[in-house]
Amino acid sequence: MTQKLFDEGELFEFEATVLSCEQGKKCYEVTLDRSAFFPEGGGQAGDVGTLGGVRVIDTQEKGGVVYHKTDKPLEVGAKVKGVIDRAVRLRRMQNHSGEHLIMGFIHARFGYENVGFHLGKDEVTLDLNGVISYEQLLECEQQANEAIAQDRPITISYPDDKTLSTLAYRSKLENMENVRIVTIEGVDVCACCAPHLSSTGKIGVVKVLTAESYKGGTRVHILCGLDAVAEYEKKQAIVKELQRLLSAKPEKIADSVKRLLDENGELKKKLTDIANAQADSIIASLKNDGRGSFCTFTEGLDSNALRRIANEGVKLTDGIFGVFNKTEGGYSYIIASEKVALRAKAKEINTALGGKGGGSDAMIQGSITADEQAVREYFAGL
Ligand SMILES: [Zn+2]
Repeated sequence: MTQKLFDEGELFEFEATVLSCEQGKKCYEVTLDRSAFFPEGGGQAGDVGTLGGVRVIDTQEKGGVVYHKTDKPLEVGAKVKGVIDRAVRLRRMQNHSGEHLIMGFIHARFGYENVGFHLGKDEVTLDLNGVISYEQLLECEQQANEAIAQDRPITISYPDDKTLSTLAYRSKLENMENVRIVTIEGVDVCACCAPHLSSTGKIGVVKVLTAESYKGGTRVHILCGLDAVAEYEKKQAIVKELQRLLSAKPEKIADSVKRLLDENGELKKKLTDIANAQADSIIASLKNDGRGSFCTFTEGLDSNALRRIANEGVKLTDGIFGVFNKTEGGYSYIIASEKVALRAKAKEINTALGGKGGGSDAMIQGSITADEQAVREYFAGL
C-alpha cells in the first residue's frame, strides 16, 4: 500500500522512493513508498505533474497502491522528487471543496443527496436526487459564498467505527472501510476520498451556472474559484461585443435585441406583403389563349408566392405551367400540371434546362441554370 500524502491538499511537492517501474500501455507505471499524487476517484481525475524530472500523465489506484503513469522510466530504489501540477490540482480542489460547500447547504435545507459528481476539464456537474429551482440554488450559492467570506476550516479525519456510528454525514457508499470524512466547520460532513483545500476562503467563489431536470432530479452546473473567474471573463467578453454591436449599455442589451427582433419581424411581414402584391399582379396578368404549355418569369419572390402563381397558372393549361424566379445562378422553379404526370417528366425537364429537382405528379420544384430564352423555347416546343 502506498502511504498517501494528499490528506494535506495543499502539499504540492514531496520526496519518495521508487518501489517499482513497469512498462504499461504507452507509458510506465511507477509505484512509490509514499505519494501526494491523487489517483482518479470520486468524480475527480488523477493528478498530473512530474516525478524525478519525468512527466506524470495520470494517476490511478489499485488495491491501495498508487500507480503513477509516466512518459519515461524511473530507476527502482531511486529517491525522487514529486511535483504536482499546482494549477490543475488547485482548480480541481476549488471546484471539489466548493461542491461540498454548496451541497452542505442544499442537503441541510432540502435533504437531497448528490448522487453523481463530475469534475471535468470544462464543466463541473452535480446530480441531485430531488427537484430544486434555479432561484433556490442561487439562495444556496449565496450561503456558500458567505461561508467562503467566513473562511471556515476544512478538515480530514478517519473516525473509528464507534464515532462513525453516531456521526451524521453525507455518503454515496454504504459500509466503507476506513471512512475518510471531510468536514467543513458548521456546514457539511461528507465521506470523500479526494484532496481538499484547508479552508473555505481558498475556494474563492461558488457560482451556479445552470440547472436542468435530470432523471427525476436536478443536474446542476457549477464553477468555483479561478474557473468561475475565467467563466466571468468569457461572459464579459460576450457582453462587451454585444455592447459594441448594439451601441447599448449592458443593462440595455436585452431591450436592444428585443427591438431588433421586433423590427426584423415587421420587415419580414412587409416583404411578405410586397411579394404577395407582386404575385397578385402576376396572377392577374397570366394569359394563355391556346391552353398549351406556358411559363412566366419573376424575381425576388418567396416559395409561397411562387406556389400561389403556379396554382393559378395551372388552371389555364392542358399541358404544363412553370414559374421561374431569378436567382444568382439561374432560376428556381415551380412547374405544375393537372394533366401531365410530372414525376416521370421531371428528369426530361431538368436535363433540357440544366436543372435539378422533383416532387409529385401535380407539382415539381427545383432550380435550373438555363436562361430565359432557352426556357421559353423549351415550353414553346412542348
Ligand atoms: Zn467529495
